[in-house]
Amino acid sequence: MRRNALIDEARQAFITRFGREPEAAGIAPGRVELLGNHTDYNEGYVLPAAIDRSVVVVGSAREAPQARVASLEREPAVSFDPARPEHDPDARWADYVKGVVHELNEAGASIGGFDAVIVSDLPVGAGVSSSAALEVATAQFLLTLYPHPIVGDRMGLAKLCQRAENDFVGAPTGLLDQFSSVFGRQGHALFLDCRTLEHRAHNLPADQARILIADTHVKHSLASGGGYRERRAQCEEAARWFAQQTGEPIKTLRDVRPEQVDNAPGLDPILLKRAHHVVYENLRVLMGVEALQGGNLGAFGEMLSNTHESCRTYFENSAPEVDALVEISQAHPGVYGAKLTGGGWGGCAVILHEPDVTESLSETLTREYRVRFGRDPGLLPTVAAQGAEGMRFE
Ligand code: ADP
Ligand code: MG
Repeated sequence: MRRNALIDEARQAFITRFGREPEAAGIAPGRVELLGNHTDYNEGYVLPAAIDRSVVVVGSAREAPQARVASLEREPAVSFDPARPEHDPDARWADYVKGVVHELNEAGASIGGFDAVIVSDLPVGAGVSSSAALEVATAQFLLTLYPHPIVGDRMGLAKLCQRAENDFVGAPTGLLDQFSSVFGRQGHALFLDCRTLEHRAHNLPADQARILIADTHVKHSLASGGGYRERRAQCEEAARWFAQQTGEPIKTLRDVRPEQVDNAPGLDPILLKRAHHVVYENLRVLMGVEALQGGNLGAFGEMLSNTHESCRTYFENSAPEVDALVEISQAHPGVYGAKLTGGGWGGCAVILHEPDVTESLSETLTREYRVRFGRDPGLLPTVAAQGAEGMRFE
């Protein structure tokens, strides 16, 4: 199993660096958004899955009130006082670890000294949420060494890790990533209502459905913040317009009904397109859930492909490279559906397919993408996987 191999690799790396056996480990997966594109900040519905790629943190407590942390992905190692973690501009990556230490202390845990090594088989910065996985793995590891009741409050733990990223690292991200990493369930997709935080797991069995994440390796200029900020502002403005027009207590696009979008003369045509995407995307998430409940993967895949079409034409957050990956996939036998995943303007496509076509699909994607764009896509074959856990070595 991939997970055990990764923990073992981390254990070996810890022994090499610190010359003793580690006591504990925290492991947390990345995630992929299957449905619910740009719905989270509109207080709508999302349907992600945790994937079988993870960050592992292993290590031991130490008497000295000092933390020493090394990542195989980032040299050099860092050391800091766990009672008062401070930013280091030369090791920004360590802020994700320090942020969790800080938030655990704020929540009442008293994190003492520790040594840790971080190992990961998640691509970093590719949109499969290595940052949340690092936070959640760190939290699970530290709570194994320094127990605190928050470990039993899984939503509280996800929110704590989100605060680490928002407040300590300074990245304004939603709860989706940490939620998925904490609540992941093998063979299941996860439904989350971003307003009420109500959540459920829905069957997505690996013997019927595999997930291929295909990275375009391009990020268009809009991806680096401008496009995201603009879309958020447009969604807020559209919601204000609907509130004014209808006199209803509309706070976000979550509160707007499809028939209201279908009959909105006077709304700026750009804002109408954005609203159309979000309102119908919420509906697609609910229909996707229904399809999964009925075991109808064909209907579920169709939702993915419909989402992509909506991203392309209404939300305008796709890019030719993602469109190509989606198009090539949709023409391949055994593919249920495909769409862009994440913020957009480049980044990754997610392709849901039957287990026995992973190889031929990967070959076709590589061959045709190379012809069109002169380079290879990054391919990450995966399945819906289990969420985070902490453990002690025997
Ligand atoms: P994503 O979450 O999509 O991978 P982010 O930009 O949100 O992209 O987070 C990536 C950052 O998280 C990296 O730049 C690094 O600072 C940190 N990070 C992720 N994984 C590791 C790791 N294994 N070791 C050290 N830092 C990591
Ligand atoms: Mg991230």
